Amino acid sequence: MSWKTQLFKLNYDLEEEKAALEVISSGWLTMGEKTVQFEKNFSKFLGNEINCIAVSSGTASMHIALMALNLKKNDEVIIPALTFVSDANTVYLSGGKPVLADSASLDNWNVSLDSIKKKITKNTKAIIVVHFAGYPCSEIEEITKFCEKNNIFLLEDVAHAPGATINNQCCGTFGDFGSFSFFSNKNLSVGEGGMVSSKDPKLIEKAKFLRSHGMTSLTFDRHKGRTNSYDVAKIGLNYRIDEIRSAIGIVQLKKLKKGNSKRKLLTKKYIENFSNTEIKIPFTNQPKNSESAFHILPILLPQGSNREEIMNELKSRGIQSSIHYPPFWGFTAYKKLFNQREYPISAQICSRELTLPLYPTMELKKVDEVSSSLINILS
Ligand SMILES: *Cc1c(COP(=O)(O)O)cnc(C)c1O
Repeated sequence: MSWKTQLFKLNYDLEEEKAALEVISSGWLTMGEKTVQFEKNFSKFLGNEINCIAVSSGTASMHIALMALNLKKNDEVIIPALTFVSDANTVYLSGGKPVLADSASLDNWNVSLDSIKKKITKNTKAIIVVHFAGYPCSEIEEITKFCEKNNIFLLEDVAHAPGATINNQCCGTFGDFGSFSFFSNKNLSVGEGGMVSSKDPKLIEKAKFLRSHGMTSLTFDRHKGRTNSYDVAKIGLNYRIDEIRSAIGIVQLKKLKKGNSKRKLLTKKYIENFSNTEIKIPFTNQPKNSESAFHILPILLPQGSNREEIMNELKSRGIQSSIHYPPFWGFTAYKKLFNQREYPISAQICSRELTLPLYPTMELKKVDEVSSSLINILS
């Protein structure tokens, strides 16, 4: 299907092509100088005292962060009910039990300290906060303090929010770990990729081992003649990133701020177009000190709307739309494990949410076209 208006388009040009070609000519394909540079640049972007390690996906980064916590049987990890399934998957695969916290409200879709507190037990070992759609969790500072006080690890899923800030502090630097994704449709795209961030050098050291089989030295070090052999101190996986994607990541990181600003401009236009309609855009009451990364444009359809039909109507006009997210607790693998009544706000959002096109190279007049099409369909 060729769309007139895609949900997302890559913000790529000759610079990304050049970066990829350079790696191919260099003769070194994985975990070399480009990866080191990408990590350095990303650390600087987040704030210099933050350590970063680049990995093969956002899921890999969350899995590594969780594995570094050494979860034991019966350990619980609180995650938002409104998130991508990978958060639940990685908690399970690291031996923990995911417990779901509700969204704060129909406007603030992120979790709140209050919704988290309802799920705390003596087995709570960690909390994952998602900065949904790019909007910083408005209570992240309170949640950070709460976790410190109660000896609970705090992980941030920053897949939607690279560059988002609260009081000029970047999302992904509040908790013990930040987990970024550079999947194709994210604000910083390399195809498949991710980044683990942490202030704590000990945790980052653990994460480094887990990324590469637990090995104490890397192929690149041996190539450079720095060591001849290696030991395996801790059991790990292969979650490495290759040089082509790191090189593209370096270019994409340079474009991120400008891309996020453009997303903001487009979001403002959507808000303006839908004011005085039944279509609600969330996160309109975010605190003044917070800045979003405007990853997607989520809307809340009027109660009782037929979302499937609306998406098909948009499709017939060449407009691509999506859902963030189909509730993972309804998926076959999870069906029996959760009780929907415990997170009524997230459940309602999942059933009424619709995501509209948003990407940095989108034109303002496209926003107008999409908006008027949707208003027209709803009437
Ligand atoms: C994309 C995404 C992930 C997973 O990232 P991948 O790079 O696709 O593995 C995790 N959480 C959220 C909220 C995401 O949007």
